[in-house]
Formats: sequence, C-alpha cells, structure tokens
Amino acid sequence: MPETILAAVAWPYANSHIHVGNITGSYLPADIFTRYHRLKGNRVLMVSGSDAHGTPVTVRADAENTTALAVYQKYHTAFVELFLKCGLSYDLFTSTHTSNHFKVSQSIFIALKNNGYLYTERQKQWYAPSQGRFLPDRYVEGTCYICSYTNARGDQCDKCGSLLDASQLIDPRSKIDNSTPELLETEHFYLDLYKLQTHIVQFLQQRESYWRPNVLRQSLGQILAEDLHGRAITRDLDWGIPVPVDGWDGKCLYVWFEAVIGYLSAAIEWSFLTGEKNAWHDWWHNPQAKAYYFIGKDNIPFHAVIWPGQLIGSGTEFNRIFENVGQQSLTLPYDVPANEFMNLEGQKISGSRNWAVWGLDFLSRYDPDPLRYYLTTNMPESKDTDWDWQDFLNRNNNELVATWGNLANRMLAFAHKNWDGRVPIPGELRPADQEIINLVAAGFQTVGENIEAVRLRAGLGEAMRLAGEVNKYLDTAAPWFEIKQDKTAAAITVFTALKAIDSLKVLFAPFLPFTCEKLHTTLGYTTPLFGEQYTQAVQDELGEHNVLRYRPTGTSDQWHASQLTPNQALQQPAPLFRKLDNEIVEQERARLGSS
Ligand SMILES: [Zn+2]
Repeated sequence: MPETILAAVAWPYANSHIHVGNITGSYLPADIFTRYHRLKGNRVLMVSGSDAHGTPVTVRADAENTTALAVYQKYHTAFVELFLKCGLSYDLFTSTHTSNHFKVSQSIFIALKNNGYLYTERQKQWYAPSQGRFLPDRYVEGTCYICSYTNARGDQCDKCGSLLDASQLIDPRSKIDNSTPELLETEHFYLDLYKLQTHIVQFLQQRESYWRPNVLRQSLGQILAEDLHGRAITRDLDWGIPVPVDGWDGKCLYVWFEAVIGYLSAAIEWSFLTGEKNAWHDWWHNPQAKAYYFIGKDNIPFHAVIWPGQLIGSGTEFNRIFENVGQQSLTLPYDVPANEFMNLEGQKISGSRNWAVWGLDFLSRYDPDPLRYYLTTNMPESKDTDWDWQDFLNRNNNELVATWGNLANRMLAFAHKNWDGRVPIPGELRPADQEIINLVAAGFQTVGENIEAVRLRAGLGEAMRLAGEVNKYLDTAAPWFEIKQDKTAAAITVFTALKAIDSLKVLFAPFLPFTCEKLHTTLGYTTPLFGEQYTQAVQDELGEHNVLRYRPTGTSDQWHASQLTPNQALQQPAPLFRKLDNEIVEQERARLGSS
C-alpha cells in the first residue's frame, strides 16, 4: 500500500539570494526525501514558494528605493532558476502573493476567529516619529530581555532562539535610520495560544519518541518551562494580506501567520493546476497522510508550536468556510526534522558581508551533483557544520570521482569495448559474485531506512560504502587480467559489476539525480528514473506569477535491486564527474568577504 506523504519545505524570504547554508538547511533534504519516495512508488507532494510579504521584503525595497512587489519578483525569479539548476523537484513552488493564498489565509483567520481562538487587544508598539509610522517588529533591534544579546530582532533573538515581545526590547533602535522609536498604542488581533496550549502539548507529546532533540527542546521543552501566551497576528503594514474584517483597513496579516499557511494553499493551488481540484484532500484531510516539514532551526517555534496551533484551532471550520462542507479537520505535522546551520570556512555565513557561497554563482562554475553530494555529506542534521573548500575538493576527487564515478565509467567502458556495446551474457555466478550482488541489494533496506528517518548523511554514506565494496570485489576479480586468459570468467565478473552499478545507481539517485539519470541511459534504459521540472506562468486577480512544477514519469516501484538483462545494449559511456584542480581552493577562498 503506497504511503501518502507531504514534503513541506521552508518558504524562502524574497529579499535575498539563496546560499549553500539555505540549500542544505531545508531545500535539499526535502528533495532527497521526495525523490526517494517517488522511486519507492509512494504518493508524495513537495510544495513551497516564495515568502513575498512582510518586513524582510519592505526593508529591502526601502533600501533599494523600489517597490516591495519588484523586490519579491526579482528574488522569486532567481529562486526558480536556482531550483531548476539544482534539481530541487518541487511539485509546486509558488508564492504567497497569489489570490489563492490570500483566500486560504483569510479563511484560516476567520476559522480561528469563529472558533474563539482570536481576540483583539490594544498594544503599545514602536512608532518612529522620524518616519511617521509604526515600525514592524523586524524594523526594530535592541537588547534581548532574556539573554542580553545586543543585536536581537524585535520578533526573535538569534542568540537564544526565543520569540520576543518587541515592546520589551531594551535600548530599541530603528533599523531604517537608527533613530530611537517610542511606544504608542495600536489595536491588533491575537492568536490565543494559551487557550490552545493543552492541545499543542498533547500534539507534541504524541511525537516525542521520534522527533529530533533540538526540535523538542525548542517546542515542548519551552512550553513546559513557560506557558504560551497570545501572539499578535496582524500588523500596521500595507504590503501583505488584508485583515478580512470590516474597519481594519491599513492592517495586514502578520507574515509569519500567513506564510506557514502556504503549505496548505500551495497544495490547493497544485490541485487546481493539475485539474484535480480536490486532490489536496488526500494530504490535508487524511489522518493517514504524513506531513514532514523541512526547515532550519531558526524556524522551529513557528512550525512545531504556532502552525500546529493554527491548524488545531481552525478545526473543521476552515473546511466549512473554504468549501462549504465542514466535516474534515486539517492534517497536523508528522515530523519537523529541522536542521542546524552550516558555517563557511569557520565563520557564520553572512549575506551582507558576502561571506557566502551563493547557489547560482556556484553553479556557474560547477555541476549540481557535486554540490548536492558535498551538502549531504556535510548536512547539519544534529549540529552546526562547516563548508570548507579544501574538504569540498577532497570529497569531490576522492569519493565522488575516485570511488563512484570511476567505478561506473571504467566498467561501462570495459564492457562496451569488449562485448560489442552490450551487457555480457554470464555463465553461472560464483560465490564471490553472488555475495557482492547480495551485499549491494541489502542497501535498498539500509539506505531506505536512513532516508525515511531523514538521516540523509547516513543514507548517502552507506551508498558510498557499498560502492567501495564493489571496487574491492573488482580489485580481487581483476577482469582486465581475467579477460586475457578466460573471457567467459571475465564476462561473469563484468556482468556482476554492472548489476551492482545498476543497483548503486538507484541508491544514489535521490542524492545525485543528474548523473544517475545519465548513467541510467548509458546502461541502456529508455524510460527515465525521474520526471521533468518545468516552469509555468499562472494568471490570477493579483497579476501573473511564475511557478516551478514537476511532471512525473508515470513509472513507480523503482527502489529495488537491479534486474539488468544480459545482452542489453549499452551506450558509449562518458565520465560522470570532473576531477577538480587544487587551485580552485585558493581561488574560491579569495572570493569570500566583502568586495
Ligand atoms: Zn536572547
């Protein structure tokens, strides 16, 4: 019975380009996980989009003297280009600036309001006399009142990870002009998290046995240490989704409140685009569906506490408002496998100091699979990791090229040359041949289990270990000597090696989709492993937005050991990976830092 899985991927803020830390933090793990489940024949939907609203975008627009819309569109276009080039195979990568997302978000808001989980309160908020307007939390920085970090943002402290009440910041200053703001009164809607607390705690305790410790610490651990309290979910801002209540003109839904709703609205938009308008029910109205949220550690409270609170609080009321049915509640997160951060050459990645390896820039000089390989071997699954250019080069040359790429290329070239471009027809396999075939076949269990548990580093490490075992087998069997004395024996060895390589190709495929697809073709297969990515312009009442989509192959059940056919026609092989010159290490290090 195929499983139904939602891969919900962090929504990048459309105010900055994407660097390798972002990719390994959430986008790449989601893609590996999704590709694996597609190969296995499971029903998986991978969705996300650009986070178009909120102050991160308006801050950038102010700085560049342009509009928020223009800022969002510029970065959204770059995201789509990068994800295509990296092979991040979203079923739908859209944006929060769509009329569908407006409607879904407003429906969640009204559902919460109808169910009694919203209240209004007049609050004091920082007002900038120099600009004549209220400052959103992100426009204010100051000293954290919990840990005394001096560069805390109004909404959250990057040092201690706490969500902050901006009005309590010590020594506040405006991010725009460094002026000192003053507290004035304004009215906002609040999400009553205190009222939802029992449900949220119960939700977390049901998942305690398998969630990552860092995620539990920042969700269940924090709630047990300190009760939840209401959070304002509207803002004095004109760029965003209007509050769907009369008399609330000039105020918007808080970007964090509505961006997480994107996981739901993107699934709905995907359904409409595919022409099956109720298909999203299979993920969102299905208690058996498993929803995985791929995010970085800075987003844990929003995904593990507040978003479940929004879903629980909406109950069946969202369904009633949105579709006029009202029977079904929405699927809660199954897992939130949040990653830690990746640093760069021993320092924290910083876009403003250009201390970053930018995705598109990297891909202008290197191929996508070496990037995916290095980011997976170095994925910050349980602690912060470091991008080191020397380490990148070593792993590319010693592992990707020497252990895996050469194995595949050498054996295919040897078979192509000596058996007329065909898979040799073997005699009866010897014990050593059967042993290596069985060893690699067992990888479908071990690599698969690791990917399902989102231990992607371990999964890739296991696949590479098996490639090393096939090299050892070939060192012993030495078909290049064998062929001179006994071509029948050499045929058995080469057939065995090709069968092992054919299996390894599938084991590596979720991690290295481009080169595995190429190898798949070289091995003589005519139906591809994966489907195709493509872009599409979508029109709605807000204008036009470009989306990234995925067209499946239609073949499923590919996650199993090779059934390579003797005498199958091979194609002329070409190397899968490039060996990199040692010079690139110094060249790349010289690029880092402001310039
Ligand atoms: Zn702090």
